[in-house]
Amino acid sequence: MIYLDYQATTPLAPEVEQAMHPWLGEKFANPHAPYRAGREAAAAISVARDRVAALVGQGGTLAFTGSATEAINWAIKGTLSRSDRPHMVTIATEHAAVLDTAEWHGRHHDVTILPVDRNGLVDLDAVRAAVTNDTALVAAMLVNNEIGVIQPVAEIAAIAHGKGALMLCDAVQGFGRMRIPEGPDLIAASAHKIHGPKAIGCLWKRDGCEPEPLIHGGGQEKGIRSGTLSPALCVGFGIAAKIAAERMEEDHAHVAALWEAATAQIDDWTINGSTDQRYRGNLNVRRQGLDSARLIAELRDIAISLGSACASGSGRPSHVLRALGLTDKQAKSSIRIGFGRYTTEEEITDALTRINEAAASQ
Ligand code: PLP
Repeated sequence: MIYLDYQATTPLAPEVEQAMHPWLGEKFANPHAPYRAGREAAAAISVARDRVAALVGQGGTLAFTGSATEAINWAIKGTLSRSDRPHMVTIATEHAAVLDTAEWHGRHHDVTILPVDRNGLVDLDAVRAAVTNDTALVAAMLVNNEIGVIQPVAEIAAIAHGKGALMLCDAVQGFGRMRIPEGPDLIAASAHKIHGPKAIGCLWKRDGCEPEPLIHGGGQEKGIRSGTLSPALCVGFGIAAKIAAERMEEDHAHVAALWEAATAQIDDWTINGSTDQRYRGNLNVRRQGLDSARLIAELRDIAISLGSACASGSGRPSHVLRALGLTDKQAKSSIRIGFGRYTTEEEITDALTRINEAAASQ
């Protein structure tokens, strides 16, 4: 298989797998237990927490969660329920974790969903007009999972703060791949997008910013997120974050070279979304008249996707591509090719040669 679906998930780094092993075997103690084995697990979690927090890079505190989806739910529900302001602002191209949580809150709060331009970028004047003294929270993602477009997160945070609102950044697709801009009060990230294990994420919180807990129970994570932590998952996340920090420039240069190789082979395709404000490990392209679902079915040993992994299979055209102004037909003639640390140029070239052949023969 040629794996080109790095936005859906990334391969586990070998160093991460190795580091997790003992915590799945002989070191099985509950990290919240008082005896030595428990304390050893707690200490390993503490090191992991510092490693992940260092990649967010702005002080504050970090709580582990079961996923970025949980972190986002916590940030939105916990902030809105603690605020007496009745309004939230977000963007049409956000991940379902944000949009569906906002929609759920729409029963109790006013939610403004801002459009994006043809390039997938939000207009800062529109943000300024939407955020008012009634706004509790503004949510904007760093890097879009479907089209790789980078939103002006620092500027959006400044606008939110100007009106006394908080800002949540879904940093899942940018975390570990680029520096997270200063400004957000709450940042959600996920281990499995940075070569860490699945089913662990985190919510970073600026000091003084305390959303109400989402998960109640045994009072772990200093009482704000109950549930026994998994030392294996935390340690894996920590090592993934450490490697991502150490290799950020190297990974970035590698992805830039892969982007050049890929874009040299897409004469008959149009890139969806901005090419300037973009994380270049995401190539989302459309080709006139293509049936992309059929293309993917024909190329089973090349892992590419129609867009977000959560939405694929629904048959619905991508809400992100629709927000760019693409027709249903154009959205359904689009594919997402995602690459990163372990992708080779040869894989990109081979895959695109076969994708082009299959598309031309439709
Ligand atoms: N936000 C973005 C932008 C994502 O790409 C994803 C995962 O696809 C998530 C949130 C959810 O992350 P998790 O899989 O950890 O719940």
